[in-house]
Amino acid sequence: MQGKIIKGIAGFYYVYAEDGNTYECRAKGIFRKDKFKPLVGDDVDITVLDGKELEGSVTEIHKRKNSLIRPAVANVDQALVIFAMDNPKPNFMLLDRFLIMMERENVPAVICFNKKDLATEEELEFLYETYRSCGYQVIMSSALKGEGLGEIEEVLKGKTTVVAGPSGVGKSSLTNSLQEEVEMETGEISRKLKRGKHTTRHAQIIPVAQDTFLVDTPGFSSLYIENMEEQELKDYFPEFREYEGQCRFQGCRHIHEPGCAVKEALENNKISRLRYEDYLELHQELKEKRRY
Ligand code: GDP
Ligand code: ZN
Repeated sequence: MQGKIIKGIAGFYYVYAEDGNTYECRAKGIFRKDKFKPLVGDDVDITVLDGKELEGSVTEIHKRKNSLIRPAVANVDQALVIFAMDNPKPNFMLLDRFLIMMERENVPAVICFNKKDLATEEELEFLYETYRSCGYQVIMSSALKGEGLGEIEEVLKGKTTVVAGPSGVGKSSLTNSLQEEVEMETGEISRKLKRGKHTTRHAQIIPVAQDTFLVDTPGFSSLYIENMEEQELKDYFPEFREYEGQCRFQGCRHIHEPGCAVKEALENNKISRLRYEDYLELHQELKEKRRY
């Protein structure tokens, strides 16, 4: 039978299988020998143990599409990063750091600004334009008023999505309604997973339909970018791409260089100043880090 590893705890892998059940599995010895360990998100084959109802063993790991290190999860299709318009106010630096990490991993990101009921039309329009013009899909939602939920569902459908965002922005409010159905199906194991939730710092996957999965990521507040050269940073700002080829110097960092097309686009309000300023700050941060 096929399934997906939705959680790993102390040598056990919980596999959400195609029959809608979640099986508690051990990996067969072969994986331990190969040092190739199953990851949350892995698509696997399992065999059900004789005489046991919901226990099995993982016999095969299917080829991975990709794997992230933080969170440690395989086969991610996209990320949905959620911030609130207010209470708490969005931290753009944190959002941009997250987007950079996803660009670097080649994981497409969708941005959701929740609690739109707490913002003015102008504020919504400004943020929508800022990130839309970088090429990101932007969803304005209100879990409270039930707005934008269809759009979120549409984005999630049939995919494995890393859901990230600071606490208090409405992540559970937005995803709870989607989850209820499956929780009823998966029953006991699902309740067991929920209970364990606060004791673990590992990623876990919540099945919301047979082919739709949410990756719950612990620890979002302190994203800092590791092992990056400062000249690499510009590659992760998608809005720079269409201008880059027009810069006078190849490898232009778009800071002090003459004849820089990105800076010209900035002056002409074609590139967001908010984003560009975060670029400068992060560039400086990476440069300083290198000196230590
Ligand atoms: P999480 O920590 O990101 O999972 O956030 P929660 O879903 O627990 O929501 C945090 C608080 O924000 C709760 O008190 C929610 O009722 C509230 N909240 C969630 N969505 C909205 C919204 O769209 N508008 C408003 N005004 N409040 C919301
Ligand atoms: Zn340039």
